[in-house]
Amino acid sequence: MIFLFRILFQIPRERDQLGIVTIPCQQHCKQTCPHTVNRVKTYVRLLSLFVIPVGTMYYTSCSTCKGLQKIDATRAQELEHQLGT
Ligand SMILES: [Zn+2]
Repeated sequence: MIFLFRILFQIPRERDQLGIVTIPCQQHCKQTCPHTVNRVKTYVRLLSLFVIPVGTMYYTSCSTCKGLQKIDATRAQELEHQLGT
């Protein structure tokens, strides 16, 4: 039954690395160091025909402590602007 469900409703995830910004760490190490900005898009695929986007999530990954920090879309856009500089 679960197998059938998996065929009918696949949940693919697409992970993009947007770039690297130097910001203070909000997690364990509290150091200002390079962070990777990542975007994860989640889709639901029905019968391999319809692909419905169900959400986008952003998070940063600290290069020092490897801590992951979930951020909202607004913050992600701010960081994306910093990538160019
Ligand atoms: Zn850190």
